Amino acid sequence: MGPDEEEPGVSAAPAQARERWVAALMRQAPLEFARVVYGLGDRAHGRTGTAAAAAVQRAQQQGLKVTRERAEQRARAYLPVAGHEHCPRCWVLGGAKNLLQMTVVRQEEGLQTARCPHCAAEYVNAP
Ligand SMILES: [Zn+2]
Repeated sequence: MGPDEEEPGVSAAPAQARERWVAALMRQAPLEFARVVYGLGDRAHGRTGTAAAAAVQRAQQQGLKVTRERAEQRARAYLPVAGHEHCPRCWVLGGAKNLLQMTVVRQEEGLQTARCPHCAAEYVNAP
């Protein structure tokens, strides 16, 4: 995808908001690592009904090897590109770079949400 094919909403976002997104998503990566750890622990203890356990199971069913070590490495290596931010949850869980869809919620306040079309995770970026 070239720079001319960007979604208007994303490319129109001021640089400041984009930097804020990158910072917010980078803060999210360690939380996603913790979630993988919970998911692995839940599954190990037979608690398969939790959302974290289900996410781990889905990734494993797709043939991904989900381990605490890999998730930790990916959480540390997570580096979103402004304007092309990828989902920290998908990245930490399986190393997939799924681009987030940004939605402006309240323009005047600069509030945005980002949704991952792959795993349906939602992130909020408020000034
Ligand atoms: Zn995702």
